[in-house]
Amino acid sequence: MRQLKLAKHVPFVIDHIPADSHIRPGHVPETKKYVVIHNTGNYDERCDAAWHNGYIHGQAASPTPREASWHFTVDDKLICEHIPVHESAWHAGDTSFGQGNYYGIGIEICVNGFPGVYEGEAYEAWEPRFLAALDNAAVLTAALLKLYDLDLSAVKQHYDFAPEKKNCPQQMRYDFETKTFSRENGTLYNLFLQKVEEYYNVKGYIK
Ligand SMILES: [Zn+2]
Repeated sequence: MRQLKLAKHVPFVIDHIPADSHIRPGHVPETKKYVVIHNTGNYDERCDAAWHNGYIHGQAASPTPREASWHFTVDDKLICEHIPVHESAWHAGDTSFGQGNYYGIGIEICVNGFPGVYEGEAYEAWEPRFLAALDNAAVLTAALLKLYDLDLSAVKQHYDFAPEKKNCPQQMRYDFETKTFSRENGTLYNLFLQKVEEYYNVKGYIK
């Protein structure tokens, strides 16, 4: 099996939910076509990548789980893998086995500590941590593009697949100029894409 290689070292934990759990459908598509970016929406300070790993394991063990699953959660200090990357998961809201779920690799980027506003002291105090999480997610995304011979156009927003056009990844879709959410002009989403491209072009990936 091909190995995921990161362009820079980020602590990486693999802790798969059990193969027989309801939220791990186990389908293996012939390839992967998309990397689908999300923001978790969990603003509580404690809701980092390790917390989400505990959460998805709790859901996997539940007899009545929320029908949601994804491959990775990333925060400012860790990448956590919950489902093997070649399998499908339920994160892109387009009916259970639509394109985003079937062919997409779901990455949840943590927004723990987000103050609920996009300006002012509280926001400015929080943003550096989020930028560090975006950087780690960009390292991972670039490595996934390489793994499946994809280019930058394979990077998608959850919004792209959600029939109800969910505003996700919300914090990245905010346009600081117009103070509205945007598909094309999300300030931090576009910064994220730039970072993905930079890492994609790093030569000599470390193992
Ligand atoms: Zn989402």
